[in-house]
Amino acid sequence: MNAPTIRQSFCRVCNCNCGILVHAEDGHVTRVIGDPAHPVTAGYTCVKGRAQPELLAHASRLLRSRKRIGSEFTDIDVEQAMDEIAGQLAQIRDRHGPRAIASYLGTFITANHVTAPLIDSFMRELGSPMTFTPIPIDKPGKEISRALHGTWQAPAQGFDRPDVCLLIGANPSVSYTGFPSGHPQRWLREPTDRGMRLIVVDPRATPVARRAFLHLQPRPGHDPAILAAMIRVILAEDLLDAQFVAEHAEGLDTLRSAVAPFDPAVVAVAADVPPATWCSPLVPGPGGAAGPSPGPDRACRRRARCASTSCFC
Ligand code: SF4
Repeated sequence: MNAPTIRQSFCRVCNCNCGILVHAEDGHVTRVIGDPAHPVTAGYTCVKGRAQPELLAHASRLLRSRKRIGSEFTDIDVEQAMDEIAGQLAQIRDRHGPRAIASYLGTFITANHVTAPLIDSFMRELGSPMTFTPIPIDKPGKEISRALHGTWQAPAQGFDRPDVCLLIGANPSVSYTGFPSGHPQRWLREPTDRGMRLIVVDPRATPVARRAFLHLQPRPGHDPAILAAMIRVILAEDLLDAQFVAEHAEGLDTLRSAVAPFDPAVVAVAADVPPATWCSPLVPGPGGAAGPSPGPDRACRRRARCASTSCFC
């Protein structure tokens, strides 16, 4: 039996690429933990990163090319598989045109930095523009809201050292989104220790919600209305960053009309949250960040962008 080894590496499951220490024995990975010496992630890993020994050794892991014949799968030589796939793709393209062939890149594949350019080249040669990712399939609101709202090209001011952080349905301590890449718990501890107001809108009492200055637990689906009510208060009470908005934003009157129906008192009753005292902690700036998780829809994302533009940027 060979002596156990520990190697430094990085997790390729998602594009955060956390630093990891890989324990191995006799050529098998036995344990994956965060690498405390990593300069950015400093020992952080999520459950997906730590589950890699089980992933690698899982009985259903695909280790060879397989072909379905009827309802059964059987092993197939990789050269033969490539020939058969190429032949069938050529038939589809000839019969229906190149747009009949689509590709899909998931998060796992984007962490492998040569795969995405390879698939792009492959699709370009086929002549098909039908390349998809999780963005249009499971969270189109992310890009649609960006296109509708416009983009602030510089990083959000205050994202590193915010005075206020508004998280909507996000739990970055276990799934990253919403905080800067790195070590989410450490990032959360430092600004909250110096007084950052963490506001969490989430029906669940998540670990990050338990640390919040204010945790709103609305009925599911009411987060867009809560954001609209917050924006209405910001505009009605002139709490916005007037200089930034005057220099960099337009459409303020349109926004004012759009949020006018969202009376905070009415929204509070519908969403089953306390009376509308929750609007004011959003404002004390000057720096802040508002971040929904990947889940929320276009309305929520767009309003989070409007809230950021109004008083955080
Ligand atoms: S966040 Fe999780 S899945 Fe992503 S790189 Fe880090 S450990 Fe891996």
